[in-house]
Amino acid sequence: MDVGFELRSAQDKGDGVFAIRSFQMGETVMVGVVDHEVDRNHAHASQVSEERFVVHGGMVPKVNHSCEPNCGIRLNSSGAHDFVARKPIAAGQEITYDYAMRNYSVEYFAAHCRCGSPRCRDRITGWKDLPAQRKADYDGFVAPYLTDIDERNPAGYLAKASSVLMPAHRIGIQSSSSSSSGSPSSSEASSSA
Ligand SMILES: [Zn+2]
Repeated sequence: MDVGFELRSAQDKGDGVFAIRSFQMGETVMVGVVDHEVDRNHAHASQVSEERFVVHGGMVPKVNHSCEPNCGIRLNSSGAHDFVARKPIAAGQEITYDYAMRNYSVEYFAAHCRCGSPRCRDRITGWKDLPAQRKADYDGFVAPYLTDIDERNPAGYLAKASSVLMPAHRIGIQSSSSSSSGSPSSSEASSSA
């Protein structure tokens, strides 16, 4: 596969990785290779399972975070993270992903996020701190152990999801309709509504 990216200055973000050709949605943009394992999480560590952290070789560590990224993560057969286009990418665009797609917990970025996206969440956070809707947006583009953790802990995940999918007034409608069933005065009650 031709290399479709190169390192360039990304202004105030330092260096970044930029596409030098276009990519279709679903296309592999960068193939990840593990350089070495590390024993703890840090700014350049990628979490490849619930216990393992690695540093990738090549330009993968140079790819910047965005809160509205054009790439996602796919675990490849060597145990490293490939970057896959989650939307069409034009030549010249910066290649970005969300650090929450690879790491369950992100505690080491004190500064405000500078991705410039309208959906910027201001702080670079990990998967555990993402809203349920954002997790759904990233479906299929995150390291698989992250969704495994959520599936094992459905109470925590569903509690967040239900606050998005089931607003309070929906619950109110359900309870009023069930109380009117079977009662002789129910026709009066429903006609007044
Ligand atoms: Zn941001």
